[in-house]
Amino acid sequence: MTAADVRERLRRIREVAGPGVEIVAATKYVSLEEMAVLSEAGIEIVGENRAQDLERKHAVYGDAFRWHFIGHLQSNKVKVVNRLCELVHSLDSDSSARRLQVPALLEVNLAGEGSKGGVAPDEIESFLERYPGLIRGLMTMPPFTDEPERSRPWFRRLRTLAAQHQLSALSMGTSQDWEVAVEEGATLIRVGSTLFEGKAHVLRAG
Ligand SMILES: *Cc1c(COP(=O)(O)O)cnc(C)c1O
Repeated sequence: MTAADVRERLRRIREVAGPGVEIVAATKYVSLEEMAVLSEAGIEIVGENRAQDLERKHAVYGDAFRWHFIGHLQSNKVKVVNRLCELVHSLDSDSSARRLQVPALLEVNLAGEGSKGGVAPDEIESFLERYPGLIRGLMTMPPFTDEPERSRPWFRRLRTLAAQHQLSALSMGTSQDWEVAVEEGATLIRVGSTLFEGKAHVLRAG
């Protein structure tokens, strides 16, 4: 992974996504040392999945990035996130919401997959009522597929739910389906492998 490669992939994604979409680099597989390459490449926002990694990387690169939390948030890790992050994408529990002091997106489990976090769509309303001002938008991870078009109905559903609840932020789309997510109104995309390894479909996109 070189800074020049990452910079070029980032440029292509920006070009396709347009100015209204924030690109969050999902850095769970990026080592402490390699974070320097991302900074050099012009990455501005990084999303970490684990509080421990967040702390470790923030200690070295705190000023180089804006930090988001995108992984399963345990309530005993909220303190760390409050201190280091500007946004949580993956809120899905009352125990975390009660302690959280930074803005959050509510993760919605649209397909009801037992293996994934997220609240059911019919729980959104009560979450918003219980934590006024905390939740700015919605996030989803649709069922895995290697056909990006299959994610479209899920993204569309999330956008509809957000509109119904007057929420503006939509975090949806990963390396393999971010273009579809952008077409469906994503305001934040979370991309890892396509940025760091340059998968074929993103090369075509540019
Ligand atoms: C890893 C991860 C991503 C990015 O996945 P890629 O396929 O590497 O783009 C996005 N969102 C979450 C929550 C992740 O854990």
